[in-house]
Amino acid sequence: MAARVIDGKAVAGAVKERVKVDLAAFEEEFGRAPGLATVLVGEDPASEVYVGMKVRACEEVGIRSIHQQPDASIRQEELEALVEELNADDGVDGILVQMPLPGHLDSDRIVALIDPTKDVDGLTPVNAGLLAHGTPGLTPCTPAGVMELLEHEGVEVEGAHAVVIGRSKLVGVPVARLLLMANATVTTAHSRTRDLDAVCAQADILVAAVGVPRLLGKAAVKPGAVVIDVGVNRLEEGLVGDVDFDAAAEVASAITPVPGGVGPMTIAMLLHNTLLAGRTRMAAR
Ligand code: NAP
Repeated sequence: MAARVIDGKAVAGAVKERVKVDLAAFEEEFGRAPGLATVLVGEDPASEVYVGMKVRACEEVGIRSIHQQPDASIRQEELEALVEELNADDGVDGILVQMPLPGHLDSDRIVALIDPTKDVDGLTPVNAGLLAHGTPGLTPCTPAGVMELLEHEGVEVEGAHAVVIGRSKLVGVPVARLLLMANATVTTAHSRTRDLDAVCAQADILVAAVGVPRLLGKAAVKPGAVVIDVGVNRLEEGLVGDVDFDAAAEVASAITPVPGGVGPMTIAMLLHNTLLAGRTRMAAR
């Protein structure tokens, strides 16, 4: 294997240490810890694992965690009322509504209702619009984590050709926007892209955010490219990414593993965003 393996856990650890230091300063200045409210509707096992990891990470660094888990049968008006309650709660600096919501609920309406200053997932139309405008407010955690990894690894983004596979509001679009803001030349590929391998093989930086196990093999990786695999796919053998790790590692210069790459960064950036939201809210008084 030629590629350097990018250790997302280690970089996330460094971000958490930074958060801990900033958090101590926040507490001293404002006499309280920042608070993150997590809302998980129902008992989807995968979502419970994700939210559990977020709650534990908060406790680890000293962010106050407020967890709400209404029944899966909750009505739209009831969930909206819960979000409004958290919007109005002065001790809550960040609100995270875990997706996906049960089918009878209108996710877009719920997300749009979150106070943009508490939108630590960066998914409200206001924060998405600010990012599109080039003046980011709170940035989605996974894309922010991808950028942090690139920076930490000393990857030259300016002038590089970045290919992002995926155009979701959660990952693909914001990551492409952040790369563009960092002066990369950005191509976004998606399910209708013709000859995906040939498009990907042009990339100096390849970011895969698809959700198809091992979609991208050696032919999709330019020799020397940096490969960031956002994909998390649950197979019987365990979690795998969108990139065939062993094949890609033969030609890439650096690559993130799954698990242990982008995943830990998402959580670390959530903590970062919660603190940032707290600071921004307190500064606005
Ligand atoms: P999503 O909303 O389902 O979007 C997937 C994107 O991939 C879409 O834009 C889709 O194109 C594109 N796509 C699907 N099949 C394709 C194919 N065969 N060739 C090229 N493009 C294809 O998923 P998401 O929320 O962005 O998440 C993407 C992956 O990242 C998932 O595996 C998810 O679990 C993972 N994820 C990981 C983290 C983390 O912390 N590590 C966080 C969030 C998400 P169209 O737009 O044309 O349909």
